[in-house]
Amino acid sequence: MKATMDKLVNLCKGRGIIYPGSEIYGGMGNTWDYGPVGVEIKNNIKRAWWKRFVQESENSYGVDAAILMNSRVWEASGHTTSFSDPKMDCKFCKTRHRADNLIEAHSKGKVNPDTMTNEEMEAYIREHHVTCPKCGKSDFTPIRTFNLMFETSRGVTEEGQNTIYLRPETAQGEFVNFLNVQRTTRAKVPFGIGQIGKAFRNEITPGNFIFRTIEFEQMEHQWFCKKGTDGEWYDYFKKAAWDFLVDLGFDPEHLRYKDHDKLAHYAKAACDIQYLFPIGWSELNGIHNRTDYDLSRHAEFSGKNMEYTDPVTGEKYVPYVIEYSIGADRLMLAALTEAYDEETLDNGETRVVMHFNPAIAAYKAAVLPLQKNLSEGARALYKKLSKSFMCTYDEAGSIGKRYRRQDEIGTPFCVTVDFDTEKDNTVTVRDRDSMEQIRISADKLEEYIAEKIKF
Ligand code: ATP
Repeated sequence: MKATMDKLVNLCKGRGIIYPGSEIYGGMGNTWDYGPVGVEIKNNIKRAWWKRFVQESENSYGVDAAILMNSRVWEASGHTTSFSDPKMDCKFCKTRHRADNLIEAHSKGKVNPDTMTNEEMEAYIREHHVTCPKCGKSDFTPIRTFNLMFETSRGVTEEGQNTIYLRPETAQGEFVNFLNVQRTTRAKVPFGIGQIGKAFRNEITPGNFIFRTIEFEQMEHQWFCKKGTDGEWYDYFKKAAWDFLVDLGFDPEHLRYKDHDKLAHYAKAACDIQYLFPIGWSELNGIHNRTDYDLSRHAEFSGKNMEYTDPVTGEKYVPYVIEYSIGADRLMLAALTEAYDEETLDNGETRVVMHFNPAIAAYKAAVLPLQKNLSEGARALYKKLSKSFMCTYDEAGSIGKRYRRQDEIGTPFCVTVDFDTEKDNTVTVRDRDSMEQIRISADKLEEYIAEKIKF
């Protein structure tokens, strides 16, 4: 793989994919704004995910729940008490670190801090003289746990204010609507609820571009099934999550499953799919068998009966949940990494090209008049194509330069309008990956592109 984080950040900034957040004010650490090209790619990623896990899943339904939820939700889910990371400060340079990350980096992944208590982590760091990545000293404060939820307050007067939270995951919006969705759709278990939305975490060590940010989007799918069938469904979603990535164009050599060594007390099984990011193998998504924990907790805290009644047998039970969760931004970073390529051309020049799956490319086609005096016909074609797909139009600079610009943002097809177009209504279509050109009738263009961008 040829992508480095620096190359990706520079390309994204220069080509309107992703800019640093609030840049004119000097930025705001670990926030990023998607530009005209980036927003299209990210929307296409979300669309592809939704199509696969909601649209094409016979018994799955979508929701779009509120970001701000009743604070009791976070008590029931356990986030107010235990959604925290083990934080340590370097006494020397005052930088803040996650103890588990320090141990993982120091042991080069050989020691798994997930199975250690805070005391064990402190002892390991002391005994192995683990050093601060910033200043190289080994002198840390004891571990303190730090809740990752962003707090805000609700109410118009100071006295009337109540603490509420920006949701740290989208999953709870699906759990609290379990009964609503089941009743209104008359869904029979097993069925699924999918959601795409923003989540917020006051991460101690955000960074690595859009890998870990404090505001991000999650794509989550909860599958409600009967106890006893949960193992089968867990395996099913492990495979479905993998297949989705491979169908998006990921090389299976760049993906691997990683079972969790330490399970949450309620979880029966959990695994991640890791991707070979420029920072090394890291979590891309998670699949968890959450048992009946979430619905049972919400039943306990809300006082509502969360049981499902089997319409045939009359049996009542609280379903088990198989959760599949993936960050849209993290998947975007993986897709950027996977697509990035530098090729040496016959003339010795290097071309940077993003080999995105055409389904997620920002623009499906770029319409380019060979010369400016052909712009009238080219613009008309651009307008026509834009009714069906996101397209772009470019008449500035040599045709070679214009091809390069499109390659860098991964536009799968460049459509060139030339003098013959005026005569016989044909255009040249250049393929991004092979750079081969074919001549086709402008009337056939829409059908040709539609076929190639299917997901
Ligand atoms: P990590 O171990 O990386 O902190 P996690 O196990 O806490 O992640 P989950 O709570 O399972 O992550 O969240 C599901 C998915 O949401 C992750 O697999 C990842 O793709 C994404 N995600 C989680 N935290 C962030 C973040 N801070 N920034 C961007 N994406 C995130």
